[in-house]
Amino acid sequence: MAAPFIGVARHRIGIDGDGVTTLAAFHGCPLHCRYCLNPSCLGPSETCRTLTPEQLYQEVLIDQLYFLATGGGVCFGGGEPLLRPEFIRRFRELCGPDWQLTVETSLNVPAENLETVIPAVNVYIVDIKDLDNSVYQSYTGKSNEQVWTNLQHLLQAVGSDRIVVRLPLIPEYNTEEAVKQSAVRLREAGFTRIDCFQYKLLK
Ligand code: SF4
Repeated sequence: MAAPFIGVARHRIGIDGDGVTTLAAFHGCPLHCRYCLNPSCLGPSETCRTLTPEQLYQEVLIDQLYFLATGGGVCFGGGEPLLRPEFIRRFRELCGPDWQLTVETSLNVPAENLETVIPAVNVYIVDIKDLDNSVYQSYTGKSNEQVWTNLQHLLQAVGSDRIVVRLPLIPEYNTEEAVKQSAVRLREAGFTRIDCFQYKLLK
């Protein structure tokens, strides 16, 4: 069950979930966002590190004391971590119940991928780009129909406390007013942790 990684970064605090966190970033993503911050996840995978869940667990175990003392753990990002649901499930079996596992995801994945990780993941950080499908399609190259379906299912399955919905202002694609309206729609749907922010463009 080996998977390619674009990086493993230790000691991240307050960026990828609670406490001290190690970010494990998978290669591969179904989207092609115009301002992707990790374009290496979209290129060839030959230069990536390939790790099994067991190898990744052994590597990140060095920070177990930090994880347990701060309520932290491992954040799976990318790329799109929910393209690797069986990897994440296996990792949970290895690390046990006490580490906090977080995923940073677009949720634009098949419903069964989400279903597979639900028993394994504590916190979901969901970058939904934009709720308007025409904006979403022009920014990512793909429809967002599956995102809304998955979001609603996730809310039913785990509750709003464990879902952070990130709602970006995307230069040249949406507006502050559109972001505000999306936030209203999300609150009406039952989401309580909504993070509005602006994409910073790489020079
Ligand atoms: S979802 Fe994230 S990793 Fe994938 S293309 Fe968009 S910004 Fe890049």
